[in-house]
Amino acid sequence: MSDEQHQNLAIIGHVDHGKSTLVGRLLYETGSVPEHVIEQHKEEAEEKGKGGFEFAYVMDNLAEERERGVTIDIAHQEFSTDTYDFTIVDCPGHRDFVKNMITGASQADNAVLVVAADDGVQPQTQEHVFLARTLGIGELIVAVNKMDLVDYGESEYKQVVEEVKDLLTQVRFDSENAKFIPVSAFEGDNIADESEHTGWYDGEILLEALNELPAPEPPTDAPLRLPIQDVYTISGIGTVPVGRVETGILNTGDNVSFQPSDVSGEVKTVEMHHEEVPKAEPGDNVGFNVRGVGKDDIRRGDVCGPADDPPSVAETFQAQIVVMQHPSVITEGYTPVFHAHTAQVACTVESIDKKIDPSSGEVAEENPDFIQNGDAAVVTVRPQKPLSIEPSSEIPELGSFAIRDMGQTIAAGKVLSVNE
Ligand code: GDP
Repeated sequence: MSDEQHQNLAIIGHVDHGKSTLVGRLLYETGSVPEHVIEQHKEEAEEKGKGGFEFAYVMDNLAEERERGVTIDIAHQEFSTDTYDFTIVDCPGHRDFVKNMITGASQADNAVLVVAADDGVQPQTQEHVFLARTLGIGELIVAVNKMDLVDYGESEYKQVVEEVKDLLTQVRFDSENAKFIPVSAFEGDNIADESEHTGWYDGEILLEALNELPAPEPPTDAPLRLPIQDVYTISGIGTVPVGRVETGILNTGDNVSFQPSDVSGEVKTVEMHHEEVPKAEPGDNVGFNVRGVGKDDIRRGDVCGPADDPPSVAETFQAQIVVMQHPSVITEGYTPVFHAHTAQVACTVESIDKKIDPSSGEVAEENPDFIQNGDAAVVTVRPQKPLSIEPSSEIPELGSFAIRDMGQTIAAGKVLSVNE
């Protein structure tokens, strides 16, 4: 990969509308098909005496790997355009999509919504658009796919565009942040080259639109937030907390504070890959040493930040959650484990404040008695032990969580406000 800017891209849309095919097409057109696929093709082609590398082969291979249960699906494929290195993050349908997306393991910056021209907006189209809005996706490129199946008709295209625009309005997604493109992932129309079949369309083709996505916000403007993964004792150095810098910069000489343990001191050394460095940036995994802070003073789940702008510790917090797989209903008093950054803390749902209609984003019910699968709601939560967490509008990286119970992720959400 080059040192171009990075984009995490989600591909969303109803089942069978062509998400995998579109990813296969993007990999093919940008010359990013995984090396092992090309190697295998060469071998097979030699055996059969055929030449050339075809799109159909990419698709066969993706399908085959999927059948074998290899996790390839389309998640975590990479391709590069003139402007960006793209990573396709988990897609809805993939088991842990929502959990990964929400806990930041695969936070998507922008998304491509695939809608089949011959099928229009379907339930999962609706669900994914709602989720994308809830999780704060920046821009949406709407690929109206399978145009070949409707004879590249302008009126069929326009009808789907209207349906999608209605949906965006319903969930209050700013349509100004959406672009519409008629494509055929299968035939390759308007993906890397302008299609001969859509003379009535003079907008951007897909790769152009991808190139023009806004660059992800550099997270360095936010104050330092470094969730602690582990705390080691290393002879000759002393106590070494380790973790990944989520936002801000960690410099030697900084005065830092660990919350909720509530201890502070001056950073003496910062190490990355076994080498001492003067500072660490977002994405860097570091070990560091802080004057006067011993092994028993801090623990996994603490967040390190500037002493004069420390991570907040929530007495209670209000959050928006989406319930995905709970066997029955969630009522007040429910106390599952919340997973936020490196912390795992039992938290009680103190009140269910509002139920939200997933298709409209409107308040559907004030103070409902319960919520269940498919519901979105605003809840007030009380951690049973001190928990450092931040409003997602201020520090997205520290403002989302997954709720787990009975060995599975049952809901996910983001923090709206914190009451310290
Ligand atoms: P996904 O479930 O959204 O990932 O959909 P797939 O990519 O697996 O596609 C579902 C079916 O639609 C497959 O049989 C594809 O070959 C077909 N398909 C996908 N894109 C197109 C297209 O642009 N034109 C046509 N005719 N078929 C397509």
